[in-house]
Order: sequence, then structure tokens, then C-alpha cells
Amino acid sequence: MLKITLATGNPHKVEEINLIAKNYNIEFVLPNGEFNPIEDSDNFLGNAYCKAKCASKSQTTQLYLADDSGLCVEALDGAPGIHSARYAPTAKERINRLLEALKNEENRRAYFTCAMVVVDKNGKILFEVQQYCHGSILKEEIGNGGFGYDPIFYVEEEKMGMAQLTPEKKGEVSHRARALSKVLEWLKNEYSEGEN
Ligand code: IMP
Repeated sequence: MLKITLATGNPHKVEEINLIAKNYNIEFVLPNGEFNPIEDSDNFLGNAYCKAKCASKSQTTQLYLADDSGLCVEALDGAPGIHSARYAPTAKERINRLLEALKNEENRRAYFTCAMVVVDKNGKILFEVQQYCHGSILKEEIGNGGFGYDPIFYVEEEKMGMAQLTPEKKGEVSHRARALSKVLEWLKNEYSEGEN
């Protein structure tokens, strides 16, 4: 089984990604020890690279995968964007701030995006990709699933709230799922089973 370090401190992300990758012979694991990357880029791919490079310092596996994701709202010129995780102190406050910012806004179009970067032990980029999930910002929270901004995101192609989707469905249509499927396709072509 191919083991890949996922450059995150968030076990929820590892769980979600392992669910999407379950039909591949790959296991994603958390980095060993402390993981405190400095994300100083002004775009998603750049920040994913900062995380991947930081994780590669742990030297735990041959490959390191990092993602950087966020929610971009058209009427807010792409905010919260790369600042999605820091838009307010808690998930609930982030949702409230966004709903407040769009209180009198007709245009509620938005998208989630996810950039992924794979690096080797030397921090050299082997593969990168950015994918999207389009929709709009709801006027109030709906559904109990997912995390973060999911309760206020309406997924265009499913005609449902992101937090109403089953984990399996979110694992098909989300920005992260789409980026990961490109990474998995690439891994399948590049690496044979059992390599680590
Ligand atoms: P990061 O990619 O770990 O930097 O996280 C970016 C932030 O974007 C998260 O903390 C969430 O607030 C938000 N976000 C990213 N992906 C999702 C998602 O699938 N659902 C809800 N919120 C998300």
C-alpha cells in the first residue's frame, strides 16, 4: 500500500480524503509531530505548496500531499477566499459574518475551490491541480453534515445544500473530491502498488 503524508493538522480532512480514496491502494496519514506551516502566498496553489514543503521536512514518506481550499463569493470580490479559515474565530462566527456581509445582496453566487500539490522528500513539486464546486450562499443554514461553510452553501448541480449531502455524495461532487480524483489518477499512472 502506498502511504502518503497529508500536510494537515486536521484529522477530519484525512478522514474525508481516505473515504474518497478508498478504492485505491493508498493510505493518507497525518504528519508526525508538530505541523505549523507559514502560508504566505496570495493564492491557493501557492499556499498548498507552503504546506506540502513544510510536511516534507518530517521525511516520514516518499510523497507529501497538501491541499488549500476556501470559499470565494462573487459579490465580495472573492472573499473570504484564501482567508476562509480565518474569516472569524469559530465556524459559527464565520457563517454569521458571511450571512451579514450578504444581507442585502441579490448576487449570492459562490464557489468552493481546492488546490492540491504533491511534493517529494526534497520539497520538489511533482504534480499540482486546482478544482471547483459551484453554487450559491443560502440565506440560512440547512443540513447537518460536513463542516465549515457547508451549512450555507447550495450545490448547484445537486440542487441541495452541501451539508445535506451524504459523505459519499460530497465525496463525489466537492472541490476537494475533484482535485483528489486528479491526484489519484496521476498517482495510479506514476506509482505501482506497494511502493512507499
Ligand atoms: P484549509 O484548506 O485547511 O486552509 O481550509 C480553508 C477553510 O475553507 C476551512 O477552514 C473552511 O472554513 C473552508 N472550507 C474548505 N473546504 C470546505 C468544505 O468542503 N466545506 C466547508 N468549508 C470548507
